[in-house]
Amino acid sequence: MKSSSDTLQSITQEINRCQRCSLYKTATHAVPGEGNPHAQIVFIGEAPGFYEDQQGLPFVGRSGKLLDLCLEEIGLQRSDVWIGNVLKHRPPQNRDPLPQEISACKPFLDRQLKLIQPKFVVTLGRFAMEKFISGVYISRVHGQPRFITWESNEFFLFPLYHPAAALRNPHIKKDFYQDFKRLRHYLDNPSEITPTTKPNTTQDNNTQNKDDQEKQMSLL
Ligand code: SF4
Repeated sequence: MKSSSDTLQSITQEINRCQRCSLYKTATHAVPGEGNPHAQIVFIGEAPGFYEDQQGLPFVGRSGKLLDLCLEEIGLQRSDVWIGNVLKHRPPQNRDPLPQEISACKPFLDRQLKLIQPKFVVTLGRFAMEKFISGVYISRVHGQPRFITWESNEFFLFPLYHPAAALRNPHIKKDFYQDFKRLRHYLDNPSEITPTTKPNTTQDNNTQNKDDQEKQMSLL
């Protein structure tokens, strides 16, 4: 895979003919990602779902509608951001991505991020978050930005729950809305984000419950 003459369009073409893992065999369409190629904010989900697979576009089902609503609430539109996924083809029955699939697909998103050079990378759910940080529960770090250097790129990482998890759980949905407000605040005040932003280590019953759910719900 070359990188020096990369364009988002050429990466899309590669994804559309990719056979690096077996997911292309069962998918209807690849979902390379879409949006503003100069976006300051990138949203990254886990993998295409049913409707995304049908249309070849990211976040077009119920999760996408919630995402659109939350974007609108903070004064953004899809045309302002870029949206993609860790995996570019849908896993059958929306099962969890396999490590070898994540590894095979990794270069595509890496190259897309390198070209876009966003200031904020907003991860949606555990699998997207774990692309950049590991060893943390999303229930402890959601809504907390941190400045990271990753693959020679620097940006603010902002982990969020996956909107599908928010749709399933009213407590997570409440957090999801609040985190979007926090995102708006930090977009306007990035100087308030420090390199040592610490995860929330306060553990109340609600957080413990979410930790337990996190072990069971893949989309968290
Ligand atoms: S999921 Fe990624 S690595 Fe697998 S076939 Fe699709 S584009 Fe290629």
